Amino acid sequence: MEEKSEASKSKEQLGQLFDKIEAMLPKEAGFSKAEFEGPDIVLYMKNAKAVYQDDSIVRAIASSIKKKLIIRSDESALMEVEKARELIKSIIPPEAVVANIKFMPRFSEVYIEALKPGLVIGKGGTTLKAISMQTGWSPKVLRTPTMSCDTLSGVRQLMFNEEDFRKKFLTKIGKDINRTLEKSEWFKATALGGYREVGRSSLLLETKGSKVIIDCGLSPEPAVRGVDANTSSENKAFPYLDSANISINDISAVIITHSHMDHMGFVPYLFKYGYEGPVYCTPPTRDMAALLLKDYVKLVQRSGGTPLYDEKDVRKMLLHVITREYNEVTNITDEVKLTYHNAGHILGSGIVHLHAGEGMYNIVHTGDMKYGYSRLLDPASVKYPRIDALFIESTYGGHADVTPNRNDAERQFMETIKRTVQGGGKVIIPVFAVGRAQEIQLALENYLTNDGPYKMDVPVFLDGMILEASAIHTAYPEYLKEGLRNRILNNRSPFESEIFEVMKGERKDIVDKGPAIIIASGGMLNGGASLDYLRMLADDPKNAVLFVGFNSANSLARRLQNGLREVVLPDEDGRLAPVKINLTVNTVDGFSGHSDRRQLMSFVENIRPKPKTVYTMHGEESKCEDLARSIGRALHVDARAPMNLDTIRLK
Ligand SMILES: [Zn+2]
Repeated sequence: MEEKSEASKSKEQLGQLFDKIEAMLPKEAGFSKAEFEGPDIVLYMKNAKAVYQDDSIVRAIASSIKKKLIIRSDESALMEVEKARELIKSIIPPEAVVANIKFMPRFSEVYIEALKPGLVIGKGGTTLKAISMQTGWSPKVLRTPTMSCDTLSGVRQLMFNEEDFRKKFLTKIGKDINRTLEKSEWFKATALGGYREVGRSSLLLETKGSKVIIDCGLSPEPAVRGVDANTSSENKAFPYLDSANISINDISAVIITHSHMDHMGFVPYLFKYGYEGPVYCTPPTRDMAALLLKDYVKLVQRSGGTPLYDEKDVRKMLLHVITREYNEVTNITDEVKLTYHNAGHILGSGIVHLHAGEGMYNIVHTGDMKYGYSRLLDPASVKYPRIDALFIESTYGGHADVTPNRNDAERQFMETIKRTVQGGGKVIIPVFAVGRAQEIQLALENYLTNDGPYKMDVPVFLDGMILEASAIHTAYPEYLKEGLRNRILNNRSPFESEIFEVMKGERKDIVDKGPAIIIASGGMLNGGASLDYLRMLADDPKNAVLFVGFNSANSLARRLQNGLREVVLPDEDGRLAPVKINLTVNTVDGFSGHSDRRQLMSFVENIRPKPKTVYTMHGEESKCEDLARSIGRALHVDARAPMNLDTIRLK
């Protein structure tokens, strides 16, 4: 009786799809039910072996119904957990170094975390197949980071602990996604933030039945100050969600391009105020976001402010994340398809391709991107299935924003370090913990340890959450450049080189000792470790501060670059005191995770197919305008620099 009701429930949910699937499956598979699970469809069978043996059956069904299919064993066909655990241990070769085997009964899945996932998978997936054939459980493989990482284990644990919630949430979202919508003959975009400015990036895309948001960020400076920012600069801190006339529960989906605060720092706030829909991002973006959002909350609390949201809201957001890999086409509503492509900006950063309606309209939204050489990542992807409108970042979009090539930049960088260290001084390198920090680590590891003019015996201290961010990189080698990926896979990760020392204890201990390189988080000197070092090291002209990334117009970093020689900072006891800036202030351009002007222009020249319309974003006003003008001229297309709150009818 119960079986019948399960099947009829599935039938009700899936309608004609159910009949179509049932007709294509072999009888002996024992198809028992089908469910929506987020954007995917899960098929449960009493004898999944019948399908595992012949992959072509599933492929044929998937292509016929145009959905991703997941095959799982019916509850009745699952081996008892402890017995399955022992069997799995005996199937996987010990060289895989299995760290954890965890079962998720609500999903009929077993998660196997190992240092060498390749050995858990086996040649052509043979080991995984053996596990599912013999135990009934669907194996999922996770990589153990080569460095211990609280963030990663925390996020993974959260997903296990909240298994029931996740299952319910995914089922509900699945129903929403598969609800048939009346076809929309129009498609429009509203700029909610980050247009003719850098910060609080957000774009609303609407059809008749869907409202999708790409990015939802906080502006960098007020973000550090928390809600204190409400009074003076509220209008500049958050996206204009309130002015766009949408209620939080109208939003069908939030898509995050990457984990920098100015692109996703406002998302937990949506959850605090009742949003219950999905957040899409790549797996590394989810983990990096967990790290950065929790750090933001802590930083604001420590400085005596009230953060916009607390850790509970961050957790709620994480529980609503649906991760997607690059190049995976996903239906996020009945009429909108999402695909991520590599953006080359930071680990897991994606260029978003959205397809709305049957062949109706296609947009490419770059988020932040790098179309050029870096040590970490491949350059941004320029091949797309279709493009009508291109939304492109303009951080370095002005015609004068040409940065030196990476080789010259690295030489200049190492010269500054060599000079300072030989003169008996210390170098502070303020960086964003995610992205630039790892680029700098890779460059230093290369020059300081290999024979050449810059081989030196000097300690490199890491302070702030850099170590944690680097550890997350080691869990996702497949997102990194080939050479780096291979080093991590072969246990020669440059992030674990012995030249790096993690700051433990008092910062003063480092300050009191001899020459050193200090990589400290707090990229623009707006707070965090870097500001603390500046206060302690500013007085001595032997020392140097070395900027390697973008500094916003009002940041302390920019003011030092402009020649500021005295600054008022809180001392150890929190009392404000003047600090003389006697150390040398150096800037090396060319390490940026953003494309410079030349790279932006070659990106638009090389992108295929050619977009019909281009919109610039994420840049100071003059740069957005300048870039739009130049692209319009070069490509002979309509190119514009929209303002915040502009609504554009795309179709
Ligand atoms: Zn970014």
